[in-house]
Amino acid sequence: MSKNNKQIQSPVCHSCGSSEIVIVTMGRYLFMTSILPVLVVLAIGLFFEPLFFLFIPAVIVTNYILAKRKAPMVICRSCRHVENKYSLPAGAEK
Ligand SMILES: [Zn+2]
Repeated sequence: MSKNNKQIQSPVCHSCGSSEIVIVTMGRYLFMTSILPVLVVLAIGLFFEPLFFLFIPAVIVTNYILAKRKAPMVICRSCRHVENKYSLPAGAEK
């Protein structure tokens, strides 16, 4: 018995056809790109200069714009192919 009863076509890599892919949604992309700079700014703000906290919204807004442009993004585990603006099957995003 197959565990996969859903009829939704699982997305595959456009480069090598592998189904071993990681889908990076907008939220995940934003988190991935923001977490490091935000932590750095937090550290600087805490230890040196509280004014640096003002950079946090700027970092998030910048990454949000980038995420909007690039996400959803698909990374293939087999060939490391990265694809932007991947067209997800309806309902797969969130
Ligand atoms: Zn691939």
